[in-house]
Amino acid sequence: MLIVKKFGGTSVANKERIFHVAKRCIKDYREGHDVIVVLSAMGKYTDELVDMARDVNPRPPKREMDMLFTIGEQMSVALMAMAMNALGVSAISLNAFQVAMHTTSSYGNARIKRIDSDRIRHELDQRKIVLITGFQGINKYDDYTTLGRGGSDTTAVALAAALHADECQIYTDVDGIYTADPRVVKKARKLSEITYDEMLDLATLGAGVLHNRSVEMAKKYGVQLVVRSSLTEEEGTIVKEDAKMERMLVSGVAADKNTARISVVGLIDKPGTAFALFDILAKANINVDMILQSVGRNQTKDISFTVSNDSAADALNVIEKNKKRLNPEHVECERNVAKVSVVGAGMMSNPGVAAKMFECLFNSNINIKMISTSEIRVTVLIDEKDTEKAMNAAHDAFGLED
Ligand code: ADP
Ligand code: ASP
Ligand code: MG
Repeated sequence: MLIVKKFGGTSVANKERIFHVAKRCIKDYREGHDVIVVLSAMGKYTDELVDMARDVNPRPPKREMDMLFTIGEQMSVALMAMAMNALGVSAISLNAFQVAMHTTSSYGNARIKRIDSDRIRHELDQRKIVLITGFQGINKYDDYTTLGRGGSDTTAVALAAALHADECQIYTDVDGIYTADPRVVKKARKLSEITYDEMLDLATLGAGVLHNRSVEMAKKYGVQLVVRSSLTEEEGTIVKEDAKMERMLVSGVAADKNTARISVVGLIDKPGTAFALFDILAKANINVDMILQSVGRNQTKDISFTVSNDSAADALNVIEKNKKRLNPEHVECERNVAKVSVVGAGMMSNPGVAAKMFECLFNSNINIKMISTSEIRVTVLIDEKDTEKAMNAAHDAFGLED
């Protein structure tokens, strides 16, 4: 069998954990399997790199940021190869260049386009464990790129898809996917299985246990994932197309604090105003999430929308630059907001999920600032300080506990 195993930062945070992971991989190798291991940077090293960069330049160029980021993953794979060698197993570390992990050119948020498998196959044929840096790629300018925070999961799934691996195992610091972040919602329950679609929504809406693009890619290429603990032998959660979910109304609750609300107040109420605003944002490559337009009054209207906190400054900047075209009375930005969502395929055929969500927030005295829904989710924007309370309230209201 060809197995791709991915270990996150906490799983390789120190020497003991590195050896623990090394032994886990060697076990599969000794059983005769081909083993590819994808690693993240040790512990919170990527965060430390962000701090170091901002200390030098509060708005560092994205290209240089990626150049800096890649050292984190490179350190992990090199040390792991040394650990495996110390344990008498031949292993080799490869970075994105050595593999040739081709991505789009956008720094900080690149997408994997193509992976050359020759070098990896060659090393596997030599009976080596192949250790590959997660999170990083190379673009057409021969520069390093990164896939977005948490992107090592995506590297693992992309490798599993490209090499037709038999298994793709994501090892992390929790023993599976829960109905909500178990660190926030103490009563959260571990799921044995979850569908790609539900996991994709949860991941996109803030459940950081998997990078959302990894789920997107797993669905596209039919790569079945298992998410499990690197520290225990617990079974974990399987992510696949048709999961036999206990047919719950809602399968999970997620929150995203990396959110800001921008309100453009007093725009002229005529055709083309919304187009002008969102066209400007799209051209500046800014992802807009929730959108709310007020009813027109006195020939004016307001449009509010959310963006990630990281892109709020850029959004404000382009709006300011296009002041003449948009001509708003004023622009406001609120950064202390968070999105809380409930997700579940069950809500497609059951009315009343939104009402239940709003009722539980009302009972907890939490004010809703914005609402958006899809067939399988309800999202509300609230004050950031209420996030944990809202998550627990929703988790209780939908009966997700054990
Ligand atoms: P890694 O470094 O292994 O990639 P991450 O920190 O990226 O680990 O992801 C694991 C974390 O995801 C957990 O520690 C947990 O706090 C968080 N998390 C958020 N939502 C969920 C969820 N629904 N189920 C499990 N963990 C979750
Ligand atoms: N080290 C990167 C990060 O912290 C990638 C990852 O962990 O998946 O975002
Ligand atoms: Mg992660």
